[in-house]
Amino acid sequence: MTRRQADVVIIGGGVIGASIAHFLAADPDWSGSVVVVERDPTFQNGSTARSAASIRQQFSTPENVRISLFGIDFLRNLADHLSVDGEPPPDISLHEGGYLLLAATPEGETVLRDNHAIQQAEGADIALVTPDEMSARFPWMRVDDLRLGALGLSGEGWFDAFSLLQGFRRKAKSNGVEHIHDEVVGLNRQGDRITGVALASGETIACGLVVNAAGPRSHLVTAMAGVDLPVRPRKRHVFVFTCPEIISNSPLVTDPSGLYFRPEGDRFICGISPKEGEPDPDCLDLEEDHSMFEDVHWPILAQRVPAFEAIRFAGAWAGHYSMNTVDANAILGPHPERPNMILVNGFSGHGLQQSPAVGRGIAEWIIHGEYRTLDLSRFAFGRQPVIEKNVI
Ligand SMILES: Cc1cc2nc3c(=O)[nH]c(=O)nc-3n(C[C@H](O)[C@H](O)[C@H](O)COP(=O)(O)OP(=O)(O)OC[C@H]3O[C@@H](n4cnc5c(N)ncnc54)[C@H](O)[C@@H]3O)c2cc1C
Repeated sequence: MTRRQADVVIIGGGVIGASIAHFLAADPDWSGSVVVVERDPTFQNGSTARSAASIRQQFSTPENVRISLFGIDFLRNLADHLSVDGEPPPDISLHEGGYLLLAATPEGETVLRDNHAIQQAEGADIALVTPDEMSARFPWMRVDDLRLGALGLSGEGWFDAFSLLQGFRRKAKSNGVEHIHDEVVGLNRQGDRITGVALASGETIACGLVVNAAGPRSHLVTAMAGVDLPVRPRKRHVFVFTCPEIISNSPLVTDPSGLYFRPEGDRFICGISPKEGEPDPDCLDLEEDHSMFEDVHWPILAQRVPAFEAIRFAGAWAGHYSMNTVDANAILGPHPERPNMILVNGFSGHGLQQSPAVGRGIAEWIIHGEYRTLDLSRFAFGRQPVIEKNVI
């Protein structure tokens, strides 16, 4: 059995692990060694490649707005961060098409107004829009049942998640990060401290600190350390459809039912999360249930956009949210019972857009023992729940 050593081992090379590795290796105050261990170097089954790849500022938690404001700035200026030897990073095709969140009830309207005040205070470019204003901008949409909308005028949209991941990896590699294709199957421990990771290949890597960036499998990693994490894998479908009529200028629309749709090239994608009380079992399979499209998605789509009556199913995929079962928000920082195991988990449906700010923050925490730019301490393990009203 071979044995090697690294200052930091990152378990999981998806967008979160890749971002942390990048920000660590790019920091002039860091001189340690970083190894990223990834069980599936194709990344085809991870959350990153299966995401809807969108970014919004429309959160109800100020910290989440700040995280996404840094996220959009990072994405807009990717070449400043991820160029290698003068070569630009992969094209992420950022399209700032906006989000449009819809409210149909007095309660829904209050939520949009309250959230808007929080978003404005943070500097997000969101406008409240009346049904008449929505009808003028988006004449293809039915608005007669609506009370209010919240529209991102800039700073919201969608992009290519896989290219962002490749950009982080390439840059980190150029700064000395080692990427290993292997699976972490055990964590070695002395008392409460992790001393190394055991790999499926039989190799062991001794380490000073381990980062859990294992996405939907993160609870399996904490179990290897003998502690629990309130994060579980929950299946979410994305359906693809075409529409014979031209629907121009569509933002990512979130219907009051919770269903979202947005354009993707000349097609559309859509999805919906189960409502509270509906079955949402833990699961790691990726089997698709196409009947959901006809039974659940289509009726809502056709009700909101009359032209969607005539849509055609064009494909589907399933992926996993790493669902924080307490408050649907990230869990960031050390586990209180395992001080050198850093948790970067539980992003639920918004981890891709949070990857730049979270990668930077966790790198700061590792290097300096504190967050220096954005204070992410509100997301520590064992906190009071940070209830996010806008979970999509
Ligand atoms: C359908 C869907 C839509 C989404 N839409 C959005 C969106 O629009 N916007 C947004 O911001 N977010 C969205 N998300 C969420 C987002 O995709 C995730 O939060 C984000 O990709 C999480 O990245 P990650 O690196 O933590 O996880 P992953 O990408 O899953 O990476 C974790 C990696 O860890 C590896 N791994 C696990 N265990 C081990 C082990 N023991 N040893 C070695 N490697 C291991 C896995 O192989 C995997 O590659 C969506 C998610 C889904 C499923």
